[in-house]
Amino acid sequence: MNLHEYDVVVIGSGPGGFSAAVRAAQIGAKVAIIERLFIGGTCLNCGCIPTKFLWKSLKVKKEIQGSYRYGIKSILEPIVFENIINKKNKNITSIRSGMKIILSSYNINIFEGSAIFKNKNVLIISNNEKNEKFEIYADKIIIASGTKPLIKNGFTFDGVRIINSTDALNLKKIPKNMLIIGGGVVGIEMATIFSGFGCHVTLVERANFLLPNEDYEISEEISKNLSRQGIEVITACTNAFDDIGEYEKILIAIGRVPNDGLNLRDLGINITDSGFIKTNEFCQTNISNIYSVGDITGKNLLAYSAQHEGVVAAENIIKGNKFSISNFAIPQVIFAMPQSASVKVLDFEKYKNVIFGKFPFASSGRAFIENERTGFVKCGIDKLTKKPLAFWIIGAYSDEIINTASQILKSGMGHISRETMFHPSFSESLLNAYEDAFGKCVDVIKK
Ligand SMILES: Cc1cc2nc3c(=O)[nH]c(=O)nc-3n(C[C@H](O)[C@H](O)[C@H](O)COP(=O)(O)OP(=O)(O)OC[C@H]3O[C@@H](n4cnc5c(N)ncnc54)[C@H](O)[C@@H]3O)c2cc1C
Repeated sequence: MNLHEYDVVVIGSGPGGFSAAVRAAQIGAKVAIIERLFIGGTCLNCGCIPTKFLWKSLKVKKEIQGSYRYGIKSILEPIVFENIINKKNKNITSIRSGMKIILSSYNINIFEGSAIFKNKNVLIISNNEKNEKFEIYADKIIIASGTKPLIKNGFTFDGVRIINSTDALNLKKIPKNMLIIGGGVVGIEMATIFSGFGCHVTLVERANFLLPNEDYEISEEISKNLSRQGIEVITACTNAFDDIGEYEKILIAIGRVPNDGLNLRDLGINITDSGFIKTNEFCQTNISNIYSVGDITGKNLLAYSAQHEGVVAAENIIKGNKFSISNFAIPQVIFAMPQSASVKVLDFEKYKNVIFGKFPFASSGRAFIENERTGFVKCGIDKLTKKPLAFWIIGAYSDEIINTASQILKSGMGHISRETMFHPSFSESLLNAYEDAFGKCVDVIKK
């Protein structure tokens, strides 16, 4: 093999591409990964990590302001938002270095540049900054090229006034006011962060309520919490783009579209009308040596789904199609303040006889200690088998508790055992909500 021939080449280094490359190398393949921007993709550089870092900064601010509740006096100095952004960037850079170390520990070659297909085995890589252009041969290719923010026809992101989530995460100053168009997860997280740091935020959504795919009760609760925090929430708004005159910033968060430029149409890869790559349950495209994972396949648009698919694709592309993607239950988390999270078995709607239990955090000892008494856990249970089918949580640490909830669903157990739950904890509220459905929760008043 010469220098530019590989068993597996991965396009994109987000969670999908990174996990695919590492797993392929773990199996023993000679692997290269191509990245045109920054190692880590959307997740590390302009998605999961930066949003949660800024959310945590806001949380720290609130904790300082509330320290008197614990008998501790503290003074919050004026916040310089640029310092927070710099800290966020420093953390991202460290994580990125860690990822590069992992890749090199597996002898995975990193090519900095943009890939385009010449044919089903040859990729042309160009890097304008370095004035480089060369070809690499790959026996097998995994496309994990991700997505970019969607913009409405007639508008363009100028990065100054009309911005997307990536621009927002790099603002040096908190604007006086901001219109956020799109009441999905990204819009809500951005509204929480910017409003928390003093921006007057108006959040508009076209549907009749925020997060149209979420449980209505959770959506309502999130909406109430956002309003309490001073965010102006407007739903059923069909003309958001008609009047954007008065706002200092207009953040458009109406969805994502595939990253393009790979020459997929000429190659003959099947794509949807919107440009997402079509794959089968093994993550394989219609061209047998090319697989695709993550956001570019337009399925879940979540980092952990991308990561799962990356591993599955790497196994299948090398060993033959042995593993299929089996999404049993996919947790969803929203970092408003407090966070909310939900998970349900994928065929939840098929169950006709579902009973519900609910446990408010106002009755949780741990929530009392943490001064986080807002919210509740709701549990949906199959009346016949007593198996839990779904959990909806709004409240502190719900992003962590939901992993336990997912495992409970996945295990298919017919009950949740008290003796396995630490007290005082937030996660024991899963048990309380479950028992409430049968009138057996000992931590709430008799109904
Ligand atoms: C604001 C925001 C917050 C989010 N928060 C969360 C969260 O908390 N949890 C969660 O699970 N998900 C979150 N997501 C979604 C998550 O970031 C994505 O689902 C995930 O990054 C998808 O991974 P991926 O590997 O498919 O693609 P990406 O992470 O988008 O990576 C694709 C990579 O491919 C590169 N690339 C594209 N084309 C080429 C080419 N031709 N040549 C070379 N390189 C190329 C891109 O530069 C990019 O680095 C968030 C997204 C956003 C926007």
